[in-house]
Amino acid sequence: ASESNLIRATLFPGDGIGPEIANSVKQIFSSADVPIEWEEHYVGQEIDPRTQSFLTWESLESVRKNKVGLKGPMATPIGKGHRSLNLTLRKELNLYANVRPCYSLPGYKTRYDDVNLITIRENTEGEYSGLEHQVVRGVVESLKIITRQASLRVAEYAFHYAKTHGRDRVSAIHKANIMQKTDGLFLKCCREVAEKYPEIKYEEVVIDNCCMMLVKNPALFDVLVMPNLYGDIISDLCAGLIGGLGLTPSCNIGEGDIALAEAVHGSAPDIAGKNMANPTALLLSAVTMLHHLELHDKADRIQDAILKTIAEGKYRTADLGGTSSTTDFTKAICDHL
Ligand code: NAD
Repeated sequence: ASESNLIRATLFPGDGIGPEIANSVKQIFSSADVPIEWEEHYVGQEIDPRTQSFLTWESLESVRKNKVGLKGPMATPIGKGHRSLNLTLRKELNLYANVRPCYSLPGYKTRYDDVNLITIRENTEGEYSGLEHQVVRGVVESLKIITRQASLRVAEYAFHYAKTHGRDRVSAIHKANIMQKTDGLFLKCCREVAEKYPEIKYEEVVIDNCCMMLVKNPALFDVLVMPNLYGDIISDLCAGLIGGLGLTPSCNIGEGDIALAEAVHGSAPDIAGKNMANPTALLLSAVTMLHHLELHDKADRIQDAILKTIAEGKYRTADLGGTSSTTDFTKAICDHL
């Protein structure tokens, strides 16, 4: 591609293994001649010495301007310190839906070989509204916020996704039998949107039953849409069905057609800097970003090369039972392009 038709995309390599797997993406994108120019920004656990902040205005502006980006994992201190950068990004960029495709990878054996589902998680409110306080000593309260606006927005996204991706069913996951007001409103919004899409089947499944059905027979589901906390849990359960967090991509969708793709795993401090990390999840996330940009040919070519490399089994990273380094695995994918 000539300079002029390069698409600018933001890249946040992140912490821990982030820079290693981000390098792998950059290398594979350049081998596949993807017309993307990365605008790299540091967002992570070290304070930027220039601005004394973890997350700068420029980093956020970069995503707002480019409307498309890829982020690596960012470390979060547990129970203290700065607020999760992931939460901050979600709030600041209004990333209201997290989309996770989960499909069985040919050649990588797990308990099931017919998983093909999409989880769509509401990403801005629910139990993760960050409203927690102590009422009196020994009693704390956490507020679960469900709004009509956010529920309609994520439901609309789920049905639109189903329609544009040739999927024929949307299941709303809830606990409205107990949380009648909050989950009740979420369901009401899903039903309203469902009426606008008569060609898509709509069903409602209680979260506990959904977990049981997913582990017994994941092929029962197609597109699942749910409030924040359920989405966090169910999407990891689904990742487990296909071989774990090292393989699962995701993409965050924000207001104004922003797409920020990210791997779902963390910064893996135990293997950081050892050239051992599996870049597949970040790569497949980058592939969802290419689809969002309608660069479907490039996306398919890269995905095929990744799947072939894994299926062949000659080069696999340690998490998949192999002994290859990140760089060898990356090179093998480039050779398959
Ligand atoms: P983790 O996902 O970093 O690690 C869990 C286990 O999976 C570790 O054994 C790790 O080595 C392995 N693993 C993860 N990704 C891998 C990959 N690509 N290849 C090979 N192995 C991989 O989870 P954690 O240890 O709970 O969290 C570590 C840090 O990451 C914490 O600071 C946490 O807050 C942060 N985190 C960030 C995100 C994000 O940015 N989206 C998500 C989860 C956790």
